Amino acid sequence: MRTKFWKYYPLDELSQEEWEALCDGCAKCCLTKFEDEETHEVWYSSIHCQYLGKDCRCQVYDQRLTKVPGCIEMTPAAAKDYDWLPESCAYRRVALGQPLPNWHPLITGSRQSMERKGQSVWQLDPAPICETQVNDEHWQDYIIGKG
Ligand code: SF4
Ligand code: SF4
Repeated sequence: MRTKFWKYYPLDELSQEEWEALCDGCAKCCLTKFEDEETHEVWYSSIHCQYLGKDCRCQVYDQRLTKVPGCIEMTPAAAKDYDWLPESCAYRRVALGQPLPNWHPLITGSRQSMERKGQSVWQLDPAPICETQVNDEHWQDYIIGKG
């Protein structure tokens, strides 16, 4: 990987290795989100996708786009356009010309710094709940705030 590539190169010029390294592993993008029909504000919930593993990794990564219609493929264009991505998301930040947060694994050299900063979805309090365990009528109970 090139030195501080996230600072000096646009997303569409990154190697595959650099692209993958940008993900901080927070898994916030695997939480269910709701959009206010009137204001178009996006609200995050503590409901997680059924395929999210306890290690914050997708258990069906190669088939995710067919198994979960709402799952997205991150691309340079998506990183810029998807304003519902969490503010901490490295793809969004680089696409917008913003610096990486100081706890990002590429800055600290360790993924543990992300967890120490409480950025992993498994550190939410109360803990996230699987989508398969939520009654459709009660989803509003799980709203936790904006991204
Ligand atoms: S929100 Fe961004 S940085 Fe966090 S897991 Fe999703 S893609 Fe990776
Ligand atoms: S399919 Fe995988 S990547 Fe997509 S939302 Fe679910 S856990 Fe996340």
